[in-house]
Amino acid sequence: MDRFDIKNLTIEELKNQMRKFSVPSYRAEQIFFWIYKKGVCDFDSMDNISKSLIEKLKSLYCIGNIKLKKHLKSKDATSKFLFELSDGNFIETVFILSGKRRTICLSTQVGCKYKCSFCASGLKGFKRNLTASEIIEQILFLERSFHYNITNLVFMGMGEPLDNYENVAKSIKIINSAKGLNVGARKITVSTCGIIPGIERFKTLGLQVNLSISLHAANNKLRDTLIPINKKYPLEKLIASCKDYIIKTHRKLTLEYVLIKGLNDSPEDVKELSSIAKRLKAKVNLIPYSPVHDKSFQVPLKKDIEVFKDILIRNRVDVTLRQSKGRDIDAACGQLKLFEER
Ligand code: SAH
Repeated sequence: MDRFDIKNLTIEELKNQMRKFSVPSYRAEQIFFWIYKKGVCDFDSMDNISKSLIEKLKSLYCIGNIKLKKHLKSKDATSKFLFELSDGNFIETVFILSGKRRTICLSTQVGCKYKCSFCASGLKGFKRNLTASEIIEQILFLERSFHYNITNLVFMGMGEPLDNYENVAKSIKIINSAKGLNVGARKITVSTCGIIPGIERFKTLGLQVNLSISLHAANNKLRDTLIPINKKYPLEKLIASCKDYIIKTHRKLTLEYVLIKGLNDSPEDVKELSSIAKRLKAKVNLIPYSPVHDKSFQVPLKKDIEVFKDILIRNRVDVTLRQSKGRDIDAACGQLKLFEER
């Protein structure tokens, strides 16, 4: 029988386990210290833990890891990593350097169910959810190997985080915990294509983690074609759920909007986007479309992006333009894995 990966346990769960072993609960803190502060990958290195407890831990648990298969470095200091999981599946993780901000973009699933038409992640379908440990291990691996000393985390890699709510929520608790990776909740962003039941659950997380909605179209007709799940969770319901999120959590939302030339960048589009952003008092994050193999969409011209942005500003919408990072290494969602599998 496969042993259970100890990195799937929160500190409270590990303390409970220690109680069941009739061992003082501070042992859980020591184990957490070894795993999350020292980055050890085996129980034998934990030299302040008794031999008998180590044997007990080894009989029940493993400390899971992932293997680096490919590391691509961009000219702009973005790095993309292809990892192999213990069952042979592949995931991608991206490191982005931007001023003082050092961000890791995490995957949450192998593949994706939602098949957004401009995104590479869903092209090969959905395989499985990542465990909390596999989500956390992306950070631990990079910290062990490259000492990035990360400041920010975004759940914007492969997969739909709110379709893997349990494991994502657990990973966030461990990442945020002072005994775990100690990353501030406000430095963590979860992005969703608009899975309303997931947003409902996210409201109850009780941490000040940021929520980003991948809007990309401000009317149902267009959104249905770009993000097919919009047919199930249409804009008016999504907006209502977002409004309720803001009331319940007192947190601001971000709307992500991938600008695709000739598709969602008309004056009418910017008008509809402004209206939604104002209703939600949300910031808009414009993202120039990043070309994906086998996709026919076009990258917008710089000057057209500026015009779109200026109209939003004139409409008094708070807007940021995400710099395209790592384009020379195919850093957008799912692209490296796609390349590997071809
Ligand atoms: N499933 C989640 C998180 C993963 S995608 C979501 O949809 O939000 C993270 C962000 O990258 C999303 O906003 C997604 O729409 C965007 N993205 C995907 N493919 C892209 C591409 N080719 N160019 C630019 N942004 C892309």
